[in-house]
Amino acid sequence: MPNLSTPIGDLRARYDVVVIGSGYGGAVVARWMAKSARARRERGEDPFTVCVLERGWEIRPGQYPTSLLGALRSGQLDTSIGHFGRPTSLFDLRMHRDVTVLVGCGLGGTSLINASVILEPKDLSDPVWPDTLRARWPADLQKKNALKSEFERVREALDAKPLPDDIELSKVTRLVESAQGDAHKVHRPAIAVSFHTHVNQFGVQQGRCALCGNCITGCNYSAKNTLIMNYLPAAAAAGASIFCGIQVSAVEPSDARAEASDWLVHARILRATRAMVQVRHGLGPHGRLRHVRPPRRRPSMTPTTTRASSDTRRA
Ligand SMILES: Cc1cc2nc3c(=O)[nH]c(=O)nc-3n(C[C@H](O)[C@H](O)[C@H](O)COP(=O)(O)OP(=O)(O)OC[C@H]3O[C@@H](n4cnc5c(N)ncnc54)[C@H](O)[C@@H]3O)c2cc1C
Repeated sequence: MPNLSTPIGDLRARYDVVVIGSGYGGAVVARWMAKSARARRERGEDPFTVCVLERGWEIRPGQYPTSLLGALRSGQLDTSIGHFGRPTSLFDLRMHRDVTVLVGCGLGGTSLINASVILEPKDLSDPVWPDTLRARWPADLQKKNALKSEFERVREALDAKPLPDDIELSKVTRLVESAQGDAHKVHRPAIAVSFHTHVNQFGVQQGRCALCGNCITGCNYSAKNTLIMNYLPAAAAAGASIFCGIQVSAVEPSDARAEASDWLVHARILRATRAMVQVRHGLGPHGRLRHVRPPRRRPSMTPTTTRASSDTRRA
């Protein structure tokens, strides 16, 4: 499987579209923006450039931890007293007073460490959604069944299907039993996992699920349909440049007074080789990480004033 990320030396000073992060949100945007840039190029129109900036590394199947010690070594912990571990480590646990979150840090984001269960979201007209949240969505998506077709596209790209009937898992059997033998009460949700060896629709060779249960420490069998199997290769194939080990710290308009302006993306290149401890006392919330070599010049990418950049500003 070829690498998706581009060497840092190829980073340019300007891009028309800068996607920050390569989780589901970033990967889907990168794919569609790169695809529309390519379509413009093919029509002989002025194309635009797309890049993805991801703070974590590209981790390939076979490189995920297989032991508890390995998993601990692949972790970083953020607490009110400081940040422990490398800022590029895969399991990014943030424990704070009000909320604790686990985020995947690597090319593909949390898709690398999630359970890959793909549930269809309820329609936005469903009262389950709080009014305040619903009001923020575009009017078109608030119409009945509007999410259905979008979900279908995503389900197809992630190749999410229920566990095949011919695979027996004692966990599923026990669940069926606990539902008093009524198999209809147990629903097998779609999962983004490959159960046969094949080259997928994005030209990526995938393996067969080994039923090892290690989906959330990273699939070493190329069987989990993480974003490095689908959306990100599609984005790269359409011309997006993907950079790993770049942490964006701020985004600001180059001219705050102008209606449409370029955007400056402030970032630092992470080259951590050793575990780090950043203690916040005396440093403030934006204290500089030790052992991180800052770039000689702070890279600032200034997208030209495209429709995309002015739309972003309004959002
Ligand atoms: C253990 C676990 C199991 C889960 N199981 C499921 C499941 O079965 N089904 C389901 O639907 N959901 C599941 N989820 C949740 C799901 O994975 C997330 O909701 C989803 O990944 C969020 O997508 P995102 O694009 O918003 O963010 P993420 O996927 O988290 O991606 C964000 C990306 O941005 C990068 N990034 C962050 N800050 C910066 C910065 N400053 N500069 C550059 N890059 C940056 C991060 O490194 C990361 O790659 C699970 C989550 C976890 C932790």
